[in-house]
Amino acid sequence: MSHVGPIQEMYDHSNYENNFFVLMGFLNGTYYALSKKERRDLVLTQLKKYYGSIVDEYDGYFEVVWRNEPCTYQAYQKHIVPHQNNGHQLYQAAYMDGRLIIAGSETSTQFPGYMEGAVSSALSVTDLIIS
Ligand SMILES: Cc1cc2nc3c(=O)[nH]c(=O)nc-3n(C[C@H](O)[C@H](O)[C@H](O)COP(=O)(O)OP(=O)(O)OC[C@H]3O[C@@H](n4cnc5c(N)ncnc54)[C@H](O)[C@@H]3O)c2cc1C
Repeated sequence: MSHVGPIQEMYDHSNYENNFFVLMGFLNGTYYALSKKERRDLVLTQLKKYYGSIVDEYDGYFEVVWRNEPCTYQAYQKHIVPHQNNGHQLYQAAYMDGRLIIAGSETSTQFPGYMEGAVSSALSVTDLIIS
């Protein structure tokens, strides 16, 4: 976790066998306007503080800028607090005569945004389908 630099959160996503090594996490959204190369260079600079020059031996850098994703981003005027609509009651209903049901961790009233929320949502949606 960091409040300095583009990397806010980063996790070890290496595999169980420990022969495939990945760091994955979230960058501060204010860096969206930079080019991919500029963001990558800042990320590498931040990582070098902890891991040293071996960082330059990385195999690949992959990123998603959510603002550029047409299906998951909507332009907004004011700052939107993350997760504020998690578990909203609109997500709990079925639509189109029961043919459209919204599922996923963020729709859950319990532990939204986490694995437990995904399981909770799956259970609720299963109940909706069965009923
Ligand atoms: C870096 C990172 C670290 C995290 N760490 C933690 C943690 O430590 N603890 C924790 O509890 N949670 C953590 N989370 C959050 C957790 O992973 C998610 O909340 C959870 O996986 C969401 O589950 P989901 O089933 O709602 O959605 P997802 O896991 O996103 O599943 C959605 C699935 O739908 C598939 N899909 C998408 N579009 C289509 C389509 N058109 N047709 C068919 N399939 C489609 C996708 O490929 C995906 O497999 C982390 C998330 C990230 C990104």
